Amino acid sequence: MSDIGLLHTVGAARAFCEAARARGETVGLVPTMGALHDGHLSLLRRSVAETGVTVVSIFVNPLQFGAGEDLDAYPRGFDDDVRRCAVEGAAAVFAPSVAEMYPQPPVLSLDFGELSARLEGARRPGHLGGVGVVVAKLFAIIGACRAYFGEKDWQQLAVVSRLAADLSLPVEVVGCPTVREPDGLALSSRNAYLGAAERAAAAVLHGTLRAGAALIEAGERRTAAVEAAMAEVLATEPLVGPVDYACVVDAATLAPREPLAGELRLLVAAHLGAARLIDNLGATVPT
Ligand code: AMP
Repeated sequence: MSDIGLLHTVGAARAFCEAARARGETVGLVPTMGALHDGHLSLLRRSVAETGVTVVSIFVNPLQFGAGEDLDAYPRGFDDDVRRCAVEGAAAVFAPSVAEMYPQPPVLSLDFGELSARLEGARRPGHLGGVGVVVAKLFAIIGACRAYFGEKDWQQLAVVSRLAADLSLPVEVVGCPTVREPDGLALSSRNAYLGAAERAAAAVLHGTLRAGAALIEAGERRTAAVEAAMAEVLATEPLVGPVDYACVVDAATLAPREPLAGELRLLVAAHLGAARLIDNLGATVPT
């Protein structure tokens, strides 16, 4: 295990990254909310492989949780997280307190227009704006870097990519494939909320996405037909509670496409017991 720096203040994180760049190192940033699993670690490994100095941020950002969501219950395991980061070769963990990140409640709000109008943006008002503010702060603190995000949160990846582009930030956003359990369930810190039966049922989310993608692969070009097939698969699992969406959209704009063409993304969000789970999968219709 290598030595790892523990950075708790904005000033310390900024100085750490500036010193690394002054030595000619490239900086990699892996933003997380902690409770690290192999999905997070895949981002971390990629950053360690591609950059000189990797900083993992661990911050449960209150701004991106709505009223009645799981901010207080969100899984935390700081010591284990730091140990894992050290084992994987991260140079530092940046773990600010809420007071350090938000000494005063931000008046800034970010709106991503059409990109945040649907899906998570529609179901969790304020969520993507809250992600935008914290990621903008992280980019401002860490400075020029490559920043690694998971495709698991497809709309978040779209939003932070546009954040960096629209503000001409010196940050290259790198999207990384979703890491899954053997039965297809995407790794997520929120899987910890699942009981044994719910955990077994949760594989239906990936099954739903695969069924939709297979239909497109077989030549289906009607959005409604694909979405109906997805809904049917989800309905086979009685433990799945309210379904927020099960749909197919354009992969880049996240807007509906009719007929289906080009790069597409199938996305699903559903409640299972105490957990609200999201997942997505790509599909291509050659144009
Ligand atoms: P979170 O801690 O849930 O905010 O996630 C931190 C980062 O890890 C985000 O960029 C996520 O998209 C990414 N991530 C979460 N789960 C996975 C997964 N199963 N595979 C790959 N990346 C993931």
